[in-house]
Amino acid sequence: MAKTTIKGNCYVCGKELTKAGAKRHLLTHEYSGEKSQNCRIVKVEFPYDKDYWLYLDIPFTSTLRSLDSFLREIWLECCGHMSAFYVGVYEEVGMSRKIATISDGSVLRYAYDFGSTTELIISFVGTITRKYQKNAVRLLVRNEAPLYHCAVCGKPAKELCCECIYEIDNPFYCESCANVHYNETEHHMLPVVNSPRMGVCGYEGEMDVYEFDPEKLYDK
Ligand SMILES: [Zn+2]
Ligand SMILES: [Zn+2]
Ligand SMILES: [Zn+2]
Ligand SMILES: [Zn+2]
Repeated sequence: MAKTTIKGNCYVCGKELTKAGAKRHLLTHEYSGEKSQNCRIVKVEFPYDKDYWLYLDIPFTSTLRSLDSFLREIWLECCGHMSAFYVGVYEEVGMSRKIATISDGSVLRYAYDFGSTTELIISFVGTITRKYQKNAVRLLVRNEAPLYHCAVCGKPAKELCCECIYEIDNPFYCESCANVHYNETEHHMLPVVNSPRMGVCGYEGEMDVYEFDPEKLYDK
C-alpha cells in the first residue's frame, strides 16, 4: 500500500497540521485568562502504523484512568477488554496515577485487550494551560482518516474482511464488493473506521464521536 504522511486537524482552530509540527502549534493556544488549569500535552501513536495518531491535553489533577476511558471511546472499545499502562517493557503503572506526577518527556506503553492486543505509545510531550473545563481529556489533534480502496473495483472502501486480513495484501472492499465477498466466503466483515483497532475482534467504532467538524471548534 502506498503511504503518504497523514495530516491532522487542530480541534481548537481547524488548522491542518503534521504530527511533527503539532506540538509547536498547540502551544500557541495557551490560555492566560482566569479560571485556567495546567495540563500535560500527550501524543498517542500506534507503533505499527504511523498514520494513526492523536494529541490530547489532560489536567494535572486527572489520572491515567481518564486517559484510558478516552482511548477506549475514540479508538478501542469493542467488548470491555482489560487494559494497562506500562513504563519500560512490563512494569505496570496504576490507573490511579495522577497526571501531575508524570513528567514531560515520559513515555508509557499502553495495551488494550490482552488477547488481540492493540498497543499504543503514549508520550508526555509538554505542558499547556487551558481554560478550566472539569477533569476531562480534551482532543487537540487527530489524524485524518486514511483512505483505503476496494480490492475489486478501487472505489473507497467501507468494510474489511477479518479473515483475509492476514493473508492478502488488500482485504478492503466497497459496500457492494463486500457483499459479494461475504456471499462467496461467509467471512466476517467489519467497517472501515479511523482507528488502529480497525478489523480487530468486534471493533466497530460506535463510541467514537470525535470526527473532525470545522463547525465545532473550541475557539468558536
Ligand atoms: Zn490550532
Ligand atoms: Zn473485543
Ligand atoms: Zn468494490
Ligand atoms: Zn475474506
